Order: sequence, then structure tokens, then C-alpha cells
Amino acid sequence: MIYDTIIIGAGPAGLTAGIYAKRACLNALVFRDKYSVNSQICNTYEVCNYPGLNNISGQELYDKIENHAKEIGVEIISDKVTELVDINLDVKKVKTKENVYETKTIILATGAASKKGGFEREDDLVGNGVSYCATCDGAFFKDKEVAVIGGGDVAVEDAIYLSRIAKKVYLIVRKDFLSATKILQNELKNKDNVEILYNSVVKSTIGDGKLESILYKHKDDIILSELTVDGLFVGIGINPNTELLKDKVEMIHSYIVADETCKTSVGGVYAIGDVRKKQLRQVITATADGANVITSVQKYLLDKYK
Ligand SMILES: Cc1cc2nc3c(=O)[nH]c(=O)nc-3n(C[C@H](O)[C@H](O)[C@H](O)COP(=O)(O)OP(=O)(O)OC[C@H]3O[C@@H](n4cnc5c(N)ncnc54)[C@H](O)[C@@H]3O)c2cc1C
Repeated sequence: MIYDTIIIGAGPAGLTAGIYAKRACLNALVFRDKYSVNSQICNTYEVCNYPGLNNISGQELYDKIENHAKEIGVEIISDKVTELVDINLDVKKVKTKENVYETKTIILATGAASKKGGFEREDDLVGNGVSYCATCDGAFFKDKEVAVIGGGDVAVEDAIYLSRIAKKVYLIVRKDFLSATKILQNELKNKDNVEILYNSVVKSTIGDGKLESILYKHKDDIILSELTVDGLFVGIGINPNTELLKDKVEMIHSYIVADETCKTSVGGVYAIGDVRKKQLRQVITATADGANVITSVQKYLLDKYK
């Protein structure tokens, strides 16, 4: 059997594409990597910016989207896609460890993974003080003290954003300078409640079920220093999961170049959600891509097979 489209990834982007494909009567298949989380959104305990679903946990929001897809009969296979072959041909091949699937179009929706801070007990407190997304979780730290790790654009933007919400923001920078763009650095300098700790690296967290403080080391000190904070934001960026299309489609800094149509540089191959080069990576922009891409796929199939 040759599928109309195979969607790789069952996060908000991939599942939305599955829902729209089903409603467009396309013969579609969605893959989910059974060895990884269902979606990055499952890592956050509260989502407050998805319209119509205020104060919902990330897992609950994911379950709602997944149930919707399942209810209307979207076919989801729990298996990791390992390779994409013949993507320039009309019939493209999607490989898993044990099977090969044929399809007229491929939609990559494999999301992204936050770069880890690399300190002890990092995973223990994710969602309970440790966060990788200031835009998403910043509001939970109103009038509290927080720290941000990093000295580049992401961390400085996070520190500026958090300075409007938190009482105090510590920016913990490994080097003795910031690498963020000058305009961001200037904006940061005007913030009275931001303190920059240069030459410092976070080594561990303290807190039983909830972050209470962090231990960090200044390069000239022998012993660790303790800083009491309610939140710790790791702002050193994310890595898009785009290995499957590496050297096969146009990319910038590992993000796939595609506009709102989600078309990549190869005909019949599309990129949606966090893998796509875009301004804002959130559930709402991922689901928007999932909807848009099916219009593109339908046009492609009509042009090719009318
Ligand atoms: C801690 C945190 C908090 C966040 N909070 C918010 C928030 O409050 N509001 C908001 O709007 N956004 C938030 N975001 C961002 C949001 O989670 C992402 O923008 C969104 O999940 C992107 O959706 P996606 O479908 O592109 O990718 P993902 O949700 O990452 O899904 C990727 C999917 O691809 C699958 N996959 C990967 N590789 C393979 C493979 N080789 N084969 C098969 N399947 C594969 C995975 O199993 C997964 O199902 C947060 C992100 C993080 C990390």
C-alpha cells in the first residue's frame, strides 16, 4: 500500500496534521517514537496560553489532542522512524527498524529537545522549579526569585522577560561576558532587578520535590556557593530533531527552511512544528502548522495525480 502522507511525530503538530488529514479523507499514518516522550508539552505542569483551555497541565492538553485524533480514527504507530529514503522520488520510503512504508508525501513533525544544563539532579525537579521555557512557565514565579543559565540571546531574552514578573533575576553566565546581541544586552542593563553572575556554573539543585536553592561555582572559588531561588531557567537553547532530513533538505542552524505552507526544498516533503524555522515555538504555532500542511499536501497530490 502507498500512503498519501506519512507524518513522523505525534506531538501537537503531528496529531493536528493527522486530524486534518483524516477529515480530508487522506490515507495517512502517524508515527510516534515509543522511546521518547509523547511531546515536549508533557514536560510542563501548567499551560496557560492555549486559548480556551486555561490552566491545563501539559499532559492533559496532550491527552485531549491525542484523544481527539484517536476518536476520529487517526492511525498512530508507536515506533521510531530511523531513515527516510528516495525522498526526491514520487514514492518515498519511511523506514523503521523492522519495516519499510511507502508514501507519496512525508511530513516531518519530530519536534525538539531542550539543551540540558548539565547540573546534578536536573531531571528530578523539571516542572517543579526547573524549566526550559520562560515564556511558558515565567508566570508561575510572580514576585519570586529566579535564576537563568546562559549568556546568549535565549538566556538574556529570558532574563528580560522574567524581570517583568519576578522580584529578582540572577543571570548565571559561564564566561566573563555575554554573547547576546548588543541590543538585548542594553535592554538588560536597564533592569534594576537583574544581577549577572559571571564566570559561574550551576552544579546542583537543592529541594525535595520542589526547587529551594541552587549550588553554583565561581571559577576562582574552591567551594560552591548557594543561591536561594524558586525557579531555575535553562536558557541555552533547543536542538531540533531534524537528523532524518540532514543534508536532504535546506536547513538553517539545523531548523528546516519552510514558510507557512510548510513546504521544504524537496517536493512532497514538509516540515511542521518545532522543526521548522519560525519566530515562535509553541503549541499554538505547532497546531497551526499541522492544519496548514494538509492544505499543501492536498494541492501537491491534486497537481500530481489529478
Ligand atoms: C518545559 C516546556 C514547557 C513548555 N510550555 C509551553 C506552554 O506553556 N505553552 C506552549 O504553547 N508551548 C509550550 N512549550 C513548547 C511546546 O511544547 C512545543 O512548541 C510543542 O510541543 C511543539 O510541538 P511539536 O509537535 O512540533 O513537537 P513535540 O511536541 O516535541 O513532539 C515531537 C513528536 O515527535 C516524535 N518523534 C521524534 N522523533 C521521532 C522519530 N524518529 N520517529 C517517530 N517519532 C518521533 C516524538 O515522540 C513526539 O511525539 C513548552 C516546551 C517545554 C520544553
